[in-house]
Amino acid sequence: MSKVAFYLQEHLLGEVMTSSDARSYFSTDNSVLSIEPLLVVYPRNENDVRKTARFAWQLAERGKIIPITARGSGTDQTGGAIGTGMVLAFTAHMYRILEFDSKSGSIKVEPGINFGKLQQSLHTHGRFLPPMPSSGEYSTVGGAIANNSSGSNLIKYGDLKNYVTKLRVVLSNGEVIETGRLSARELNKKLGLTNFEGEIYRNLDTLIEEEIEIIRKQDIKVSKNNAGYNLIDIKRKDGSFDLTPLFIGSQGTLGIVTEIEALSAAYNPETVLLMASCDSTEQLQNIVRELKELPAVPSSIEVVDGNLLNEAVAINPNVLNDLIDKPYPSFLIFVEFDISADRQLKKMVKKANKILDRHASNIKIEYDKSEQEKLWKIRDTSSYVMSHNNETNRSVPLIGSGAVPVKNLAQFIDGIYKLFEKTTLPAAIWGHIGDGIIHLQPRLDIGQVGDRQKVFRLIEDYVELVKSLDGTISSEGNDGRLFTPYLSNFYPTELLELFSKVKSIFDPYNLLNPGVKFDTTVDDLKNLLRHDYKLAKLYDHLPRN
Ligand SMILES: Cc1cc2nc3c(=O)[nH]c(=O)nc-3n(C[C@H](O)[C@H](O)[C@H](O)COP(=O)(O)OP(=O)(O)OC[C@H]3O[C@@H](n4cnc5c(N)ncnc54)[C@H](O)[C@@H]3O)c2cc1C
Repeated sequence: MSKVAFYLQEHLLGEVMTSSDARSYFSTDNSVLSIEPLLVVYPRNENDVRKTARFAWQLAERGKIIPITARGSGTDQTGGAIGTGMVLAFTAHMYRILEFDSKSGSIKVEPGINFGKLQQSLHTHGRFLPPMPSSGEYSTVGGAIANNSSGSNLIKYGDLKNYVTKLRVVLSNGEVIETGRLSARELNKKLGLTNFEGEIYRNLDTLIEEEIEIIRKQDIKVSKNNAGYNLIDIKRKDGSFDLTPLFIGSQGTLGIVTEIEALSAAYNPETVLLMASCDSTEQLQNIVRELKELPAVPSSIEVVDGNLLNEAVAINPNVLNDLIDKPYPSFLIFVEFDISADRQLKKMVKKANKILDRHASNIKIEYDKSEQEKLWKIRDTSSYVMSHNNETNRSVPLIGSGAVPVKNLAQFIDGIYKLFEKTTLPAAIWGHIGDGIIHLQPRLDIGQVGDRQKVFRLIEDYVELVKSLDGTISSEGNDGRLFTPYLSNFYPTELLELFSKVKSIFDPYNLLNPGVKFDTTVDDLKNLLRHDYKLAKLYDHLPRN
């Protein structure tokens, strides 16, 4: 054990691991990248996190930099949950529900809590935290906060930043702060503090006041944008100020979250599902546009293409038996409503049916839960296809978490097909079409030179496509390391410089997840690209049917 590990082991309640097995396990997340950490810490409580950060800060003051990467379940697909220094793994001990107020629906949890388990507990009280990612059965709330995650219901419920009200955060020097919206008077008190917290509030407030015009350039018109830092929602016109939206989506680069307070919503398990077949991307775009104009929007609008269904039956000829007949349509669109008022629900279903009737065919409307589950199984062939791979042909999480405005959806899907054609890879898409998010996972063998070269060509072409359609590269996902080199395609230099200033205010020694959102080049990525993209971990995380 190194001196650093010895020191930590002596001072922390949680375990410190330096074994090659532990380091190897934590050297990958769900991305195509890999970095082996120096050691792994399993904090038992906030004090352990505080002491670890304080220790790293003191070492940095003496010129020795050992970074910290916070980690939930490691399902991040951008290399955000790996790092060279100390990995803080929250799932071992810090996973409790601390408070639940059934009247207000407010919850307080530790970051390592499994999202799916929290959701189950909330359901028993008729509540839910709507933005649960589809990886939620396997991932943590802390990771979801740091990635500003969302689910298939983004279109109606938005992302996590709409629900989180307060955070406890360990800063890079080991100080602990509590965030939440402050009135102008409360902000003034913070500005007067003589500690690191006060310094952060003063510097950030000045920066926002001085650079508000640049900050406004961040406003990309998509359903959700995780690229860079969210500077727009910190200070409001009324002078109120909140660091919470800044930490959300910051991937552990500004502070380490140790407690989360959020407001759950009323849960209505009674839903109605419509499914229809479409022949063209124009039809899809029209349907989405018109559905979004309804007085009550659907809780989700999803799509799968015929290629995906064909790929699924090529793997297992029986997988779609009794669910849908061949030949498969070009696209299947799924529209779900979870409105609790019966009259309004019926009205919206009728209107949605009319919209589908204008642009699609073979419409099915299901009120029955078990019949709905069957239809959702068709949509879930995406996980089925992703998790069935052979030695040389693997579904690789590279691109496909960007978003474009709905008006550009048809061009987006057409462009994705062209991208597949160019690289002679089998095309298959699915996704949250109501939010302009289309998923794809190219099948590659990144152990082979030819396919390794394709990786960067694919990313570059995808970036160009998303940019040309006024979209964002990081919507459902985040920048991590993978998309950091491409941020300059989406934001002007002065905005990138502003992000960098924010990072320096919070983390002057660059200790918190360095390389994420900053300072990663395409050449760095080439060195970090795994040779052995195996599904061992993906199988831990993927929902399968
Ligand atoms: C099959 C699959 C499906 C997915 N579907 C979705 C989806 O529908 N929607 C979506 O948004 N994402 C999705 N993702 C991406 C990912 O699963 C989510 O972002 C998830 O919320 C990450 O949680 P985690 O616990 O795995 O976090 P990790 O991967 O461990 O970490 C994610 C980031 O959070 C940081 N972090 C973790 N804990 C803390 C903390 N306590 N303090 C500060 N920073 C912290 C890490 O450093 C890292 O940068 C999917 C991934 C996979 C593999």
